[in-house]
Amino acid sequence: MEDNRLYSPKYIRYIIDKYGFRFSKSLGQNFLIDGNIVRNIVKGANITKEDYVLEIGPGIGTLTEELALNAKKVVAVELDKSLLPVLDETLGRYENIEIIHGDILKLDIEEIIRENLGGGPIKVVANLPYYVTTPIIGKLLEDSLDIESISVMVQKEVADRMIAGPGTKDYGSLSIFVNFYSSPEILLIAPKTVFMPQPKVDSAVIKLNIRKTLPNIDREKFFQVVKAGFSKRRKTILNCLSSYGFNLDKDTIRQGLEQINIEPKERAENLSIEDFINISTILPSLDI
Ligand code: SAM
Repeated sequence: MEDNRLYSPKYIRYIIDKYGFRFSKSLGQNFLIDGNIVRNIVKGANITKEDYVLEIGPGIGTLTEELALNAKKVVAVELDKSLLPVLDETLGRYENIEIIHGDILKLDIEEIIRENLGGGPIKVVANLPYYVTTPIIGKLLEDSLDIESISVMVQKEVADRMIAGPGTKDYGSLSIFVNFYSSPEILLIAPKTVFMPQPKVDSAVIKLNIRKTLPNIDREKFFQVVKAGFSKRRKTILNCLSSYGFNLDKDTIRQGLEQINIEPKERAENLSIEDFINISTILPSLDI
């Protein structure tokens, strides 16, 4: 095959025919067909020859190949068994690529970092399957893994929610979750046309620069307070907290909020991460 760059639609069609591959909507299979986007993801993720990279969902290996050309080693986890012989053909000649067959949500990533990725720190780069974007990012952020940054293609609307700050329409519990663990930035916007098959919405690559130190707080309680705060969109923080089953009467919560200079009539969408941290720490008797 003459035009054998992996992002070439012609090559993808050739591979599909050769292996009788069928795109699976339920596995979120939208493959990249634009060389510039592929290169810019790897550039934006700042991948160098020192880096150990974990890729989630290599597909036919388009991004994986560009990563391998720039990184020390790439481990790519693919769930779809029917792509394994394809990956063998497209990437078999690269000695610094290892393919693991499995579901990223079920695998022990700490073990993969220890056994296959030099012990960390690692960088994660992926064009994520959209149906599991939030659980994957949740797992990567919550599990105290040795990760330096996560650069991932997600739906643009999800990227907007991740980078949103207080007082904006996209601000919510996802923004707080992502900003608690990382400092996020949008690397690029990708129109639908750079994928095969084309998804319904535009996408964006977001880079989460993982924070090295986190506030020393009861994290579970903090995220419960955030969840409670956003449980009723147009209600005040006082009403949200007092109707959430914290086993505290409304007046006690009101006094607690006033003590930490939070107006009980304020709404969650105007409160910063620090405000939520203060709520969770200054009301120690919250019984969740
Ligand atoms: N990286 C390729 C590209 O950019 O062309 C493919 C990206 S495609 C959006 C997502 C890939 O993730 C598919 O190959 C799909 O089979 C794989 N996948 C879906 N769910 C997965 C999971 N839970 N664990 C690992 N891989 C998964």
